[in-house]
Amino acid sequence: MPLTTSEIQALDSAHYMHPFTDHKALAEKGARVITRGEGVYIWDSEGNKILDGMSGLWCVNVGYGRKELVEAAVKQMEVLPYYNSFFQTTNVPAVQLADRIIKLAGERYSHVLFGSSGSESNDTIVRMVRHYWTTLGQPERSVIISRKNAYHGSTMCGASLGGMSGMHAQGGLPIPGIVHIEQPYHFGLAPDQDKDAFGIEAAGWLEQKILEVGADKVAAFIGEPVQGAGGVIIPPKTYWPEIQRICDKYGILLICDEVICGFGRLGAWFGSELMGAKPDLMTFAKGVTSGYIPLGGVVVGKRVAEVLIEKGGEFNHGYTYSGHPVACAVALANLDLIEKEGLVERVRDETGPHLAHCFAALAEHPLVAGAETFGMVAGLVLMKDKHQHLAFDEDLEVGMICRKHCFAHGLIMRAVGDRMIVAPPLAMTKEQIDEMVRLIRLCLDATL
Ligand code: PLP
Repeated sequence: MPLTTSEIQALDSAHYMHPFTDHKALAEKGARVITRGEGVYIWDSEGNKILDGMSGLWCVNVGYGRKELVEAAVKQMEVLPYYNSFFQTTNVPAVQLADRIIKLAGERYSHVLFGSSGSESNDTIVRMVRHYWTTLGQPERSVIISRKNAYHGSTMCGASLGGMSGMHAQGGLPIPGIVHIEQPYHFGLAPDQDKDAFGIEAAGWLEQKILEVGADKVAAFIGEPVQGAGGVIIPPKTYWPEIQRICDKYGILLICDEVICGFGRLGAWFGSELMGAKPDLMTFAKGVTSGYIPLGGVVVGKRVAEVLIEKGGEFNHGYTYSGHPVACAVALANLDLIEKEGLVERVRDETGPHLAHCFAALAEHPLVAGAETFGMVAGLVLMKDKHQHLAFDEDLEVGMICRKHCFAHGLIMRAVGDRMIVAPPLAMTKEQIDEMVRLIRLCLDATL
């Protein structure tokens, strides 16, 4: 006999500690039990069909129920379900995937170090950039500059690199040697300023911080091409080229966290490509397997790889599941599917522009003070009085109210403060985008 919803909820409440969850609040109504997915839809245990506007957690890029990925996992599990590559061994899918990712990333890169998540990948780069500078005889070059409101994961390094104050309030973070600058949030920080001028100014905060810390102490700068979990903060187009110029000027390594933006979400294989940045290191996860199985890693540029390989000796870092053959086989099948269906190009030429068009129309809604998209990510800013630029009272939690209506209307949309965001599967069609936008409009009307 299958368990009933209330039996599952009772077990959930008794034994399952959820990530990022207030369990007392959850216990009041019980968790929603998601049982199945197909295409861009998921179903709960009560049979409700829900349009997944968030691709799970920004990851189910090819959509749910793709047999090709399942078959790749089964085939690899039968042949070799696991073997590590610590002790002079390797495995075929890991090698093939590393080669494939390097070909996609371009000639600036030569190696990939795998882990299982975005957080692990960002932990890896903290050690890697410090080991790089130590190998070059500059161990004092250890400070990493990140940005406020960035999200780089929830391990100690990931959360320290991240710039969310709530995360830093717990567990004694950040770890030493990580400092933050303000994010390039034009709408929030300087809506009246010319956008391009603001982009240059915001990048200039990096230079100020470098000078404050001392250029000879700074190892690297890290940023997401588009800040995702922080609320889909799309920087002005002048921002990243200026960041690149500043990193070059001081010889600082540039790291792009491509965990959300990588593998097609912005309409290119890597978001940094579109931003005019040439990172020395890129971290990835999520979209590489469309979330079907955990996998992450670091794409290592030749500048770093050559030093580490030629002079660095053993890099004492790695994970039991680095280069996991099943995860890598699923990733290869996922990349095949993305290529076969031309999803990256579709986001760039078709669905991304259509989403932008639909969000421009949503900007007319009385609650919406700003609407921005980039490829298949989009954000709306809700305001009490958009003409006066008057925000809602924080205690009202307008985003959470809107999110409740989304739940009721069968739509997954995420609230970040007063910003409502979506990151739908890249496989979403134009008709499904229309359906999603129709639901968003209903939810906004209900929030009014
Ligand atoms: N980096 C970015 C930009 C992310 O959005 C996330 C997760 O949302 C992470 C890193 C952490 O990835 P994971 O949850 O796989 O550890």
